[in-house]
Order: sequence, then structure tokens, then C-alpha cells
Amino acid sequence: MKDNQLLRYSRHILLPEIEYSGQEKLLNSHCLIIGAGGLGSPVSIYLASSGIGKITICDFDDVDISNLQRQILHSDNSIGTNKAISASNFLNKVNPEIIITPIAKKLNIHEMTDIANEADVIIDCSDNFETRYALNKIAFSLKKPLVSGAAIKFDGQISVFDFRKMSSPCYECLFPDTNTEEELRCADHGVFSPIVGIIGSTQAAEAIKIILDIGNSLMGRLLLFNAKDMTWKTITIVKDKSCNVCSI
Ligand SMILES: [Zn+2]
Repeated sequence: MKDNQLLRYSRHILLPEIEYSGQEKLLNSHCLIIGAGGLGSPVSIYLASSGIGKITICDFDDVDISNLQRQILHSDNSIGTNKAISASNFLNKVNPEIIITPIAKKLNIHEMTDIANEADVIIDCSDNFETRYALNKIAFSLKKPLVSGAAIKFDGQISVFDFRKMSSPCYECLFPDTNTEEELRCADHGVFSPIVGIIGSTQAAEAIKIILDIGNSLMGRLLLFNAKDMTWKTITIVKDKSCNVCSI
């Protein structure tokens, strides 16, 4: 690490759980973030500022004025710009010493698998079941950790599916893909602005902990947050022996 990096990351290096060697690990790691919206904003900002050496961020959508209430990566002058490109512009200012790779197109399963194969941790910041199910299958097939988050209205949830471990349940153990899920979309139901900040920041914390192997991850647990009552609940996720994805 150069002198300016020692200064930049000094408050991490001071933590006995991280120290110099942990910060080096972060600098040598690669995170894949799917979605540069409400969740992808805090996730990518914290990962960039923390010195994750390589960040790949994917989003095929363009910034719309209705995004700006909660998607803090983007600003007024990025309206109409692709979200991954807008994110990359912002993150390069946060930390010019790391490599940010924006992917501005919709990826098919094969392309997504190739990109995920390069990453140490996959972070699902998408807003739809199709992507969540696809990422679950890809992460399982590659035996990579997946940090999953979702937020709508005043509610949010986070979990970790750590496929480096055989005992980890998967997203489909929790929500089997029956093709009948009613998708709750922000555009129809609304979303309380800070909820994506709280859930996304928690996802960033889990991703960094996974890289550093600190403490206990949310593997096998679903953390549920309600902002109206300001309550957190934990539900145990059991591996489904007949799961279509992870029991095979
Ligand atoms: Zn499963």
C-alpha cells in the first residue's frame, strides 16, 4: 500500500479485525453488483470507499427523474444516462484508485455467468424475481457467495447464500420459483427513500465481512426490517431437501 492508501484506509487498518492485511485483501478483491438503483447505490458507494479493488456494476436502465428520490448514485444531470455509466462516474470520484467496470446492457445467463465467475462476491441489488432466481442459480453453480437484498414500501430484507459451503440454503429454498409470485414494484407501490439505504448498507457490510471472513454472516438467516416500527426480525432459513436448485 502506498502512503496515501495507508491514510485513506487508516480507520479500517485501525480495526483489529481488519488491520493492514485485511485492507490488502479488500484491495485485491472483486465484487459484482447487479443493479445500480436504490440498493446498488449504497452498496457500491460503501464498497468503493472501502477500497474493494475491482467493482463491476451492471444495469441496462437509464436514470429517470423518479429514481432520484432514493437512488443516491445519480443526480439531476445524469437523467437519461445509463445507470451503470452514471454509477461509474460517481464511484470514480469517490475512489479514483480502484477499477470500476460498468456494464450497460442486459446480459443473458451465459454472459452473466462469465462475469460472475470473475468475482469473489455477487451482490443482488435487482428489483425483480427473474434476476434474483437467475443469480441464485449462477452463484450456486459457481460456488460463490451471494448477498441478496430487497426493499419495497417501508420493508426490507437481507440474506446471504454462501455457496462455498455445502450447508448453505439458497434463495429458492426460501422462495420456491412457482412462476406465480406477484411482483411488488416500486413504480406501483412506492418505496420509502431511506429503506434502500438501510438495506443496501447492510448488504455492503455482509459483502465486506465475507471477503475478510469476519464474524457470522447471514447465511441461513433472513433479516427483515420494518421502518415504520423500526424493528428487525430474524427468520431461520432451512435448506430444502427437495429444492429445485441446491438439492441437485
Ligand atoms: Zn435451495
